Amino acid sequence: MITERITVPSHLWGPRTQPVRIVIIHATRGGTSSAGWEYIATKNWFQSPNNPGSMASRIIGPNGEHCIALDDSQVPHWSAGYGSIGYPTEFLIDAYAISYEVAQPNDNYPFTEAQYIRLAQEVAKDCKTHNIPPLMLDLRPVQRFPVPAGITRHDRTANGTKLGKSDPGKMFDEAKFMALLKANLGEEDWFDMATKQELREVLEELIGTKDILNGRTVAQFLQESDDYIINTLLAEHGKRADAGVFIKPADSGAVYLLTWRVIWSTPSKITYSLHHVANPTTLELMGGRSGVNYVEVSPAVFAHIKTVARQGEPTPSLTP
Ligand SMILES: [Zn+2]
Repeated sequence: MITERITVPSHLWGPRTQPVRIVIIHATRGGTSSAGWEYIATKNWFQSPNNPGSMASRIIGPNGEHCIALDDSQVPHWSAGYGSIGYPTEFLIDAYAISYEVAQPNDNYPFTEAQYIRLAQEVAKDCKTHNIPPLMLDLRPVQRFPVPAGITRHDRTANGTKLGKSDPGKMFDEAKFMALLKANLGEEDWFDMATKQELREVLEELIGTKDILNGRTVAQFLQESDDYIINTLLAEHGKRADAGVFIKPADSGAVYLLTWRVIWSTPSKITYSLHHVANPTTLELMGGRSGVNYVEVSPAVFAHIKTVARQGEPTPSLTP
């Protein structure tokens, strides 16, 4: 299948300074008479000095053509920006995303089988390169930090809502695309994020509903917990957890970060890691800011956690 490379004027891109965490899907909707013409017209537009700022990383044509407009070290100006709130509450999608324009003349025009196949192949490569799970993200109504990892579509973003964007729209068969993507990735190595219900079951299974939760239900606990804190701390040091909680054995002054990753289809493959937090002051500072703090557990529960958790590598990240 065809792979092409075009050179884009310098005002239409900038250097990438953030990690790639998202793949976003658009449709061109240029109003030409066929998807073939859309593909050609979009390539021309992306190379035009008259283009005031309309760009994407890649273009997928109706015969499975793949045009690389920008490589992963380049950020398009622009494919998708902020929602209506903006920084610092919201993140800029382009800064974290590889963007695909799929050729489609208008919103009623069907996508071709070859487009689905090529799009899934190329996105699968992005997922492997950048450790992005095959998870469809809904970034409405707010593109809130921390930046999640996954796939999205322009019509599922706060930016799309703000701009009235409906691409890739009703003709895009998302279930088919996601199935093709997962097939390209292979089942063994990839997993979706756990849902809150799945996390609840995991928590119940791991530690029981009472002790660790200080009287709250797991649902309350998940609602009140602020993943932002945990993921921010981890992200600062190049790590990521699907979920986590700070715990403190009642009989000790030590604080631990317990994180877990869940393979949604195979709950037995959940892996837990226990990290000693060398400097609880960091935690208190973060917790103090958000009202979230550690959860105290009984020595018996902590002993149980230690038996199921892989001892995480030390957290130099949390040490001053
Ligand atoms: Zn779009």
